[in-house]
Amino acid sequence: MSDGASAAERVVIVGSGPAGWTAAIYAARANLQPVVYEGVPTANPAPVLPGGQLMLTTEVENYPGFPKGVSGTDMMELFREQAVRFGTRVVGENIDRCEFGARPFTLHTSGGSTVRAASVILATGATANWIGLPNELRLATTGGGVSACAVCDGALPPFRDQPLAVVGGGDTAMEEASYLTKFGSRVHVIHRRAELRASKAMQDRVLTNPKIEMVWNSCVSDVLGGDFIEGIQLTNTVDGAVSTLPVKGLFIAIGHSPATGFLKGSGVALDQAGYVHLSSRSAMTNIDGVFAAGDVADSVYRQAVTAAGMGCQAAIECERWLAAKGIH
Ligand code: NAP
Repeated sequence: MSDGASAAERVVIVGSGPAGWTAAIYAARANLQPVVYEGVPTANPAPVLPGGQLMLTTEVENYPGFPKGVSGTDMMELFREQAVRFGTRVVGENIDRCEFGARPFTLHTSGGSTVRAASVILATGATANWIGLPNELRLATTGGGVSACAVCDGALPPFRDQPLAVVGGGDTAMEEASYLTKFGSRVHVIHRRAELRASKAMQDRVLTNPKIEMVWNSCVSDVLGGDFIEGIQLTNTVDGAVSTLPVKGLFIAIGHSPATGFLKGSGVALDQAGYVHLSSRSAMTNIDGVFAAGDVADSVYRQAVTAAGMGCQAAIECERWLAAKGIH
């Protein structure tokens, strides 16, 4: 090794969703012996698990290669197994802080140690924002009809020909509501104000769709049901009136939060919403040797398959970057 990186790992991958594991598979097969910091489970305010958003997804039906579908947890276990098979080492800790000012880079772990790395791939994802209601989080983690991704879950059998609800007034909520009209009998959009945040074009699509009904000035104050959702309790944000709406699916679309807090002070450029900024068609961040992949750098597509593709790209670019630096 050169570049002052003799005692350093060649590549450290932070995050263990589809982007992180795919980057690991490619880096491991390129003999880079990557280390994946897969994170530690946290429960506050909503569950965050090693494996990422898919650990909260009961059934994945849109990932190519699984014609019968696969559970999100099984899929992440398969990704992990494949990465380990080729020599990936896995550490069950978070990375809490990064120093990218000197080479090799220094990463501080949640276990209180440091790891030095010639290159780093950031793949910590983004978490869906939740309202924070106990029943909402319980039913979201048990496949009980509460989801933060209509594209992932909307086509599942329990939602077919049933009344559904979407919470939110932004572009995501509009997109999800329109998408869900393919499956549900009726889609209610619950918004806490009387004015949408979404772009005019997206609003028009929703407001003119006969299957969509707007519920203005309302927030979801409880989710009703035992093992599966039976309805939602609504509280009017203007007069406080409480009502019940029977629905068999609830889709939360109130934004996402990229997991970039650990990059504070590291110099990695983020966009206005806090996502890692990548220049067009490259996986390299503004810092030479630091790459990013998956939802941490993508607020648009947020799919397992796009994250995996970005992980592949980041690993290939990282391998070429290391080779150009003479780090083998
Ligand atoms: P967003 O624009 O931040 O909108 C979030 C919505 O959720 C807002 O309407 C907000 O209400 C509501 N909200 C937030 N917290 C809430 C809570 N606790 N309870 C109830 N409602 C709550 O997020 P987004 O829709 O996910 O969009 C994120 C970015 O991606 C935006 O820049 C968007 O334009 C972009 N995007 C683009 C497309 C597209 O062009 N096809 C599709 C999707 C997303 P308030 O309005 O009252 O604050």
